[in-house]
Amino acid sequence: MAITKKQRAELRMKFGGRCAYCGCQLPEKGWHADHVEAALRKWEFGERQANGTRKIIYSGDHWRPENDVLENMFPACAPCNLFKATLTVEVFREQIAAQADRARLYSVNFRTAERFGLVEVIVKPVIFWFEQYQSEVI
Ligand SMILES: [Zn+2]
Repeated sequence: MAITKKQRAELRMKFGGRCAYCGCQLPEKGWHADHVEAALRKWEFGERQANGTRKIIYSGDHWRPENDVLENMFPACAPCNLFKATLTVEVFREQIAAQADRARLYSVNFRTAERFGLVEVIVKPVIFWFEQYQSEVI
């Protein structure tokens, strides 16, 4: 759904001008309007290209158009929006909580930094900014 400039400016300020998830300051340009519940854009394969691949063409329609409304949108930084993709908020939370373990498992850089005390993993619940922000206002 296309939102007006004014709606977009209001959405950016929904949680104090910060990303609804990580809480970083949103720049004036380059932040994303995240669908909290995915609207799932419809797509189809385009014609096969010379290299054998096919482009994905988005039609502009959604599988769940009821989710493509302003009330279902949160302001998000690009990394949070791209990571969340079509995940629900709770699955997104689980995925973030798994990041340190995943880094330890797959990154020798992380393991080295941890072994030398340069990185310290803190085990704590993942609380999104929109959850903290709301509780501060109440
Ligand atoms: Zn973020």
